[in-house]
Amino acid sequence: MRFAQRVESLPPYLFVEISKKIAAKRAKGEDVVSFGIGDPDIPTPSHIIERLCQAAQDPVNHRYPETEGLPELRQAIAAWYKNRFDVSLDPDKEVLPLIGAKEGVAHIALCFIDPGDIALVPDPGYPVYSIGTALVGGESYFLPLTDENDFLPDLSGIPGDVLRRAKLLWLNYPNNPTGAVAGLDFFNEAVRFAKQHDLVVCHDAPYTEIAYDGYRPVSFMQAEGAMEVGVEFHSLSKSYNMTGWRIGMVVGNAEMVNALKTVKSNLDSGIPQAIQYAAIEALTGSQECIAEHNAVYQKRRDLIMETLNKIGVEARAPRGGLYVWARVPQGYTSVGFATELLEEVGVVVTPGIGYGPSGEGYIRLSLTIQDADLVKGLSLLSGWHAKKQG
Ligand SMILES: *Cc1c(COP(=O)(O)O)cnc(C)c1O
Repeated sequence: MRFAQRVESLPPYLFVEISKKIAAKRAKGEDVVSFGIGDPDIPTPSHIIERLCQAAQDPVNHRYPETEGLPELRQAIAAWYKNRFDVSLDPDKEVLPLIGAKEGVAHIALCFIDPGDIALVPDPGYPVYSIGTALVGGESYFLPLTDENDFLPDLSGIPGDVLRRAKLLWLNYPNNPTGAVAGLDFFNEAVRFAKQHDLVVCHDAPYTEIAYDGYRPVSFMQAEGAMEVGVEFHSLSKSYNMTGWRIGMVVGNAEMVNALKTVKSNLDSGIPQAIQYAAIEALTGSQECIAEHNAVYQKRRDLIMETLNKIGVEARAPRGGLYVWARVPQGYTSVGFATELLEEVGVVVTPGIGYGPSGEGYIRLSLTIQDADLVKGLSLLSGWHAKKQG
């Protein structure tokens, strides 16, 4: 069989080795506690599920949906942005529902990247930015996110020859995997930079509703001139524990939204309508669930931070997102440390290198772990430390 080069050249999936080790441990009947995946463990709120079930009964919703989504959903998204961020959007031109943000994040490369073009991609970062770029024949130029820079990219450090070939700048705050947040100053700077170098900005923002200590993340669309140069990807996955239902959205610059709509109208046939009605309920119904979920995550974050401090693993307490980004102890690589924790105490963490070269030296711990498992996992980590101390 002769595969296309784009498939042949996909990077090997780093987590395969770890998954094998987990499976082997479990097969031996050994317990494994996972801080690995970022997938909300709390169920979708019941009022949303009720609306979904009700809509599923209606034969109108059994037929092909429209690519651009139900007008009521686009209106609900626009109203939510107005209410949450004071950003005004035209629901017909500046809003497009997606089959999850990931789908749009991958497909927008088709709108902007020709073979040989460059996408500027945060490192570490969500792998889809660079893989989506590679699948259309583009190149990624990694922007290191470092502790010294508060995990914000140094835009002024990008070489001129890279900038001349660059067409798209990816950003993601609150950030996966570093847990960093960005303020309006940074987004204003990104807009100025994009205008200066004729780039489009794609801000991936699925975590704006997941925040702690009273912090309220901002939207890129609030930045001065953002609507001229960029879009923001958002999702119901993390805000409303709806990862399994697959629904998100892109909002912002009308030409960019329209280009993605054109591509998608040729590739997919929209989002099942019952799920669109569930999304309308999520966006327009009671928002109390968000504060409740954040309280759960914040408690978990604090427990994790307490243990990491005790065992001498350095990390900053994240103000947003679902992850703790922690430095591996001296003398370890990220894969070496993750492997040791798995083999010695059955605790799964994600090695930072899986998110890009600048992820070396870090591990990621997810807050989407049930409380009982979390307590068990943290006590196993303390046990590992005690053993090391002799
Ligand atoms: C979870 C996640 C997404 C995917 O969201 P979906 O709407 O479930 O596809 C996109 N970007 C980042 C950074 C994420 O962590």
